Amino acid sequence: MSLENIKDFCGIFGVFGAPNDLASKYTYYGLYAQQHRGQESAGIVSSDGEKVHSYMKMGLVNDVFKKAESFEKLKGHMAIGHVRYSTTGESSEFNIQPLLVKTGFGHLAIAHNGNLINAHTLRKDLESQGSIFRTTTDSEILIHLIAKSKFENLEDKIIDAVSQIKGAFSVAIMSETQLFIVRDPNGFRPLSYAKKDSTHIFASETCAFDLLDAEFIKEIKPGEMIIVDSDGVREKEIPVPKNPSFCIFELVYFSRPDSKLNGECVDKVRRKFGKKLAEEALKTVDADIVISVPDSSNTAALGFASASNIKFEIGLIRNHYIGRTFINPEQNMRDLSVKLKFNTVGGVLKGRKVVVVDDSIVRGTTLKKLVKLLKKAEPKEIHICISSPPVKHPCYYGMNFPTSEELIANHMSPAELKDWLKVDSLTYLSVESMVEAAEVSLDKSGFCTACFTGNYPENVLPTPNSKQSCQ
Ligand code: SF4
Repeated sequence: MSLENIKDFCGIFGVFGAPNDLASKYTYYGLYAQQHRGQESAGIVSSDGEKVHSYMKMGLVNDVFKKAESFEKLKGHMAIGHVRYSTTGESSEFNIQPLLVKTGFGHLAIAHNGNLINAHTLRKDLESQGSIFRTTTDSEILIHLIAKSKFENLEDKIIDAVSQIKGAFSVAIMSETQLFIVRDPNGFRPLSYAKKDSTHIFASETCAFDLLDAEFIKEIKPGEMIIVDSDGVREKEIPVPKNPSFCIFELVYFSRPDSKLNGECVDKVRRKFGKKLAEEALKTVDADIVISVPDSSNTAALGFASASNIKFEIGLIRNHYIGRTFINPEQNMRDLSVKLKFNTVGGVLKGRKVVVVDDSIVRGTTLKKLVKLLKKAEPKEIHICISSPPVKHPCYYGMNFPTSEELIANHMSPAELKDWLKVDSLTYLSVESMVEAAEVSLDKSGFCTACFTGNYPENVLPTPNSKQSCQ
């Protein structure tokens, strides 16, 4: 996966009570820390209690907000922000979030991370009742449901709306005067709460709090809503059945290792994945060194090395400065995409029996290219160890895996894949070990493991019209 260009979901951020119009600056830093969750566009909507202000564009956070003037109009003590990678909704300017609309009861801005599985039906219903959609994102459905709700106050309108949507949603909703933070009843996507002095801060990942020196308060519970306004902070439960199904892939690959998710540091969980993988692989593998496919596999490789007593070495160097686009390679340079990203450290690999730890295999084509690259450094043996089970099923909760047909684990057994990759062994982490490593003893939250097992959470089973992902 480190190689396969599978995109993250989105990252959201919310602030209430920042002094000196600093809400938008806090949001900028919060988005910057979460850039790995979406690289296509970035946006901030702020409010000073009377007027809302917005600034958003296609591009990385630093490119979008590269001039100090960007912040001049983003006045106010409250703000929400979003980094996006388009999954179903097209990659275009009108889909940039936060979405901002003017309703009969004032402005509403929304930043959404996740994917609604009943988006198709809801959109058709809303359109048949006269709703006109401005974007192709499923997030806009929520705005229409809120706007149409018969309830009097905004808090009840939002509860009414989120009770009708199904799937994955961690959202920040802002009016001129109130901030609402909601996590879906399955808790698919992460969402946490922190405070910096008297400022309330919310983010998809806790790494955003560290950058701001904010103090972690808690994770938002599945099905919980937090309301922040001039009266203070209130917590409410969305009145729908809960079924905790935290996305285990966040722990395998997506989230930053310095974030704390589901009650545990991601780094620690990934090390446990690596340890369990070593226990399973060492029944058949004998090696001189362990290397990782940087960066997402680094901590799993360290866990593998410590459990196996095999030395961890840096055998692959990642180029962090590669642009997001480059001219398509010529036919005779078709391995260039991997070479642009990685190079081998020849002296480390030559003549050695090498364990290569990667976090997952999706299509497998880029791993094949990486093996080719590694072989040029003349290792004695290559043993591929994957710190997750085979990916065999699509995700309907916000992750853009390719179709089942494109997933290599649906066409090849591990033995066949080993032969196709031309390596000496291939070991996947078992589902049981992955879940065991991810469970925190004090808080045995449920996990979604559907892309590995095909067991989709029962209350949000994909329907024939469920898009694989959308935002
Ligand atoms: S299907 Fe996989 S990627 Fe999607 S939410 Fe479940 S565990 Fe996460």
